[in-house]
Amino acid sequence: MSLEHLWAGWRSDYIVEATARERSGDQAHDAAGCVFCRLAASGPPSEDNLVVWRGELTFVVMNAYPYASGHVLVLPLRHVGPLSGLTPAESADLWSVTQEAVATIEAAYEPDGLNMGANLGRAAGAGLPAHVHLHVLPRWAGDTNFMTSVAETRVMPETLPLSWKRLTDAWPR
Ligand SMILES: [Zn+2]
Repeated sequence: MSLEHLWAGWRSDYIVEATARERSGDQAHDAAGCVFCRLAASGPPSEDNLVVWRGELTFVVMNAYPYASGHVLVLPLRHVGPLSGLTPAESADLWSVTQEAVATIEAAYEPDGLNMGANLGRAAGAGLPAHVHLHVLPRWAGDTNFMTSVAETRVMPETLPLSWKRLTDAWPR
């Protein structure tokens, strides 16, 4: 399974929304129209906003369209599109928090492996290219064959709030 297919779930709804905004003149690249900026401004982590962790520069939120349970996004709080637009402090923090996200998913889900990475630009599969975000998600041996009932029950056994609680409980304090 390609990464494009892997993250297509996240992309599908938001690309429609983002593209419609751009066409209608509502600037999707502005912070005002950005889903991630709304999440960044939604206050402390809670089951309502599904923010798992929030620091001074970076936050972690459940992917609203997960490929697997435990699929999170790691983002700068500030509205930054290109990777090169991050300050050195933001860049370092983003990486540090991504390491914590990997460790937390490993502790909470004990997966066989993880995927971690970013789609930069809409052509690369990013639904919201205006606000850079890293995907981190657990993988299990054989889960690419998700038509099998075994993989389905292993990969997607829980709701977003349950995944949120599992990761929030496991996140290092
Ligand atoms: Zn934003």
